[in-house]
Amino acid sequence: MAQIRIQNVRKDFGAFNAVKSSTFTVEDGEFFMLLGPSGCGKTTTLRMMAGLELPTSGEIYIGGEEVGMKRASERDIAFVFQMFALYPHMNVRKNISYPLVSQGMKRAEVISRVAEVAKILQIESILDKPVGGLSGGDRQRVALGRAIVRNPKAFFMDEPLGALDAEFREHMAEELRALHDRMGATTVYVTHDQLEAMQMGDKIVVMNHGVVEQFGKPQQIYDWPATKFVAKFIGSPSMNFLEFEGAIAAGDNEVSLSGNVVKVPVSREERLGKLALGVRPEHIRFSDGSAFRGRIIAVEYLGTTQIVTIETAHGEIKARTVSNQSARVDELIGLDFDSRTLTIFDSATGNALV
Ligand code: ATP
Repeated sequence: MAQIRIQNVRKDFGAFNAVKSSTFTVEDGEFFMLLGPSGCGKTTTLRMMAGLELPTSGEIYIGGEEVGMKRASERDIAFVFQMFALYPHMNVRKNISYPLVSQGMKRAEVISRVAEVAKILQIESILDKPVGGLSGGDRQRVALGRAIVRNPKAFFMDEPLGALDAEFREHMAEELRALHDRMGATTVYVTHDQLEAMQMGDKIVVMNHGVVEQFGKPQQIYDWPATKFVAKFIGSPSMNFLEFEGAIAAGDNEVSLSGNVVKVPVSREERLGKLALGVRPEHIRFSDGSAFRGRIIAVEYLGTTQIVTIETAHGEIKARTVSNQSARVDELIGLDFDSRTLTIFDSATGNALV
């Protein structure tokens, strides 16, 4: 079992608090994403989980054992970093065997482990090649081979695909995910790319300014963002926020936007003052009958869909529609929202109410 549990973990660098009290659990076998913008503390969190950085306070458990003060070498884990440092003077086989040989493993066992890993990664044909002449993808596979050959309890990856171009990156992402599905080892993966996190992760932690904003399955986070930050960070184009001044009581399921009643999911809480109605671009429909109106200011054609930018009394919003939906710049249109998919936020705290 390699469940990893982070309990009230905090990290200070001198007077700077890089990670505020963080708590979440990575279940055994999960592909787990640490997601957030640059500087949010995701690398520091990963480094503490892996034992490269000591927490200022809090506890870290791997497989039930408290390891917060243990070094990386004592945690039976493996890293894959963005810059893969392979040993240039060794061939592929030697690069992959190295961690086993340096552990003093018997020769026959090393040979059989390397053969097994080469098969998983489909690199049997390049085992005797020098690493110098390999393509980027093969180098990546050799580095992965070196990480998985020890059969560690967990893998830690810090933006491993960050240096690759877009097309190749997508291919390697699929390969990594497939590899994980074959091996089933707990993997913690740092990325600032929300699409990569959504596509690859079983679960995602979204961080901002050292704070865990939300933790859950990709679809939960997309459909039920806990904060405005998460709502904005996940999804492209991002969620629209229609700011309004209003009141909502616990149990209410409607709000008033410029005098128009908009149905929303039932509010859990009571609020008065500055609120924001969160609506995803794909949940906006054009509707002649709607009294909530706007003026089209831009149309961006994307093939099967289009992004229509609309000016409303509550700010500019973007709608994603099928591209055969008629939309002309300067046209006045009525707008309808799919009530089940709306979120109300308290503008002062940024927290979701429904
Ligand atoms: P990036 O994607 O840019 O690496 P990140 O979310 O991984 O960002 P961290 O690298 O965890 O962010 O850094 C979080 C904050 O802590 C940043 O403001 C960074 O400057 C600071 N920080 C990280 N390591 C140190 C250190 N050793 N000493 C001082 N400050 C540090």
